Amino acid sequence: MTHTVTEHFSEQLSLRARALLRSLGAAVPEPGTLAARTPISGGVLLPLTASTPADVDAAIGRAATAFRSWRTVPAPVRAALVRRLAQLLVAHQDELAELVTLEAGKIGAEALGEVQEMIDVCEFAIGLSRQLYGVTMPSERPGHRLMETWHPLGVAGVISAFNFPVAVWSWNTAIALVCGDTVVWKPSETTPLTGLACHTLLRRAALDVGADPEVHQLVQGDAAVGEALVGDTRVALVSATGSVRMGATVAPRVAARFGRCLLELGGNNAAIVAPSADVELAVRGIVFAAAGTAGQRCTSLRRLIVHRSLVDELVERLTTAYDQLHVGNPLDDGVLVGPLINERAYIAMQAALLRAQEEGGEIVCGGSRVELIGEQAFYVRPALARMPRQSDLVCEETFAPILYILTYDDLDEAIALNNAVPQGLSSSIFTLDQREAEQFIAGSDCGITNVNIGTSGAEIGGAFGGEKHTGGGRESGSDSWKAYMRRATNTVNYSTELPLAQGIHFG
Ligand code: NAD
Repeated sequence: MTHTVTEHFSEQLSLRARALLRSLGAAVPEPGTLAARTPISGGVLLPLTASTPADVDAAIGRAATAFRSWRTVPAPVRAALVRRLAQLLVAHQDELAELVTLEAGKIGAEALGEVQEMIDVCEFAIGLSRQLYGVTMPSERPGHRLMETWHPLGVAGVISAFNFPVAVWSWNTAIALVCGDTVVWKPSETTPLTGLACHTLLRRAALDVGADPEVHQLVQGDAAVGEALVGDTRVALVSATGSVRMGATVAPRVAARFGRCLLELGGNNAAIVAPSADVELAVRGIVFAAAGTAGQRCTSLRRLIVHRSLVDELVERLTTAYDQLHVGNPLDDGVLVGPLINERAYIAMQAALLRAQEEGGEIVCGGSRVELIGEQAFYVRPALARMPRQSDLVCEETFAPILYILTYDDLDEAIALNNAVPQGLSSSIFTLDQREAEQFIAGSDCGITNVNIGTSGAEIGGAFGGEKHTGGGRESGSDSWKAYMRRATNTVNYSTELPLAQGIHFG
């Protein structure tokens, strides 16, 4: 495309973004210095105004005030707000998904899947509102009852990453709201429009069911806006999703003020392919996990640890599959791999591929740029790199579609390789040998450990998160809700005596 054609295309995308915002009920924002861009063409969709420190302060203040009454609304009644949000998401699934495609570059099927995940987690939260169980324990004292009760925590500050611009918000917000918390959300500065759209839908849901719309606040901007949330003692929980670098800054600051932190940070996910694997199934699982979302998922497959007996055959089959991947405009049918988010991501990918070769690796396929829509859009062919060993490079998370291939001889060695990285998010094994599968589940040190599926594509019913530098947080399903509430242990004496614990006699 010529420069002019690209500009014209960017203008069309901008018009489309405005139309989508309008149909989602959001007012087109006042122009400012925060540019919402699209990785599809690299052009600007809309210029927005970033929140000032005074805006952030006021938003936290409103959320703190709203908390005082929201905490007293019974949890099943709070769920009415989340139910209405789910209905609005169903009604607007296509528009919101298209906005995700415009801002984050996801292909249609994945963007729709991301909005579906929002609907799923809302349904989970609605059910959860009647299941915020505390346990009772036998008291050692006669006429006493010992139990736990769970109470709303306060204001939850949600900081999210560009690559799941709406799902991560919903994991936090749907659960936090039924738990009785109010939310201040700072979306990624790369995806402010989807942030605006979700905020608008939630406020509309609140008005529709007669809930206080102030339970949700939106602040926009870069790391400085996030830091304002992190440092504010009125924010009881900081739930931060993003890079390890970001988590390393956020965690000590929240700890220093004795706040609570929920960290969902980077991954460096591996899959082991054992000799007994169903290779056909493994190839399908590997290609989606490594090349899907252009390698820009926290759970993207980055390391493939293959039994030596199988590696040549598998690399050949993967190369054939990679050659067939359609890289292109994610708005077009049939495209499987959309753009990288920006030039920085492209430069990081090229630097990693260069280093891989310097370290004796062989780029088996991919890695090159595909110039499709002007100079400011960064499309690449997903790369396979055979590596002689698990070097420092392989231990890093490069947020781009590079799959490093390593070999192993026995399973203990493969599991050791899986674990020998700083991050601990997701892991998989492809095997038809149950002993191997169980050994892997017990041996992997990751928060997610799969058998015969890839590392990405988690369901909301399970707790999502990882260990080590991934931050240790858990969001979404299972008992992750406990991170959004505070626990109180209650001892109730319904006797006429005052026996002390441990049989102590006092006076
Ligand atoms: P990023 O760390 O650059 O930014 C994430 C968010 O943190 C943004 O909203 C950003 O403005 C904010 N931020 C950055 N520095 C901050 C600071 N000092 N204080 C407060 N806020 C700050 O990450 P990104 O490039 O948007 O996303 C990609 C990264 O996120 C990858 O590492 C990926 O693995 C990770 N990620 C993890 C999960 C998970 O659940 N584990 C999910 C999605 C993405």
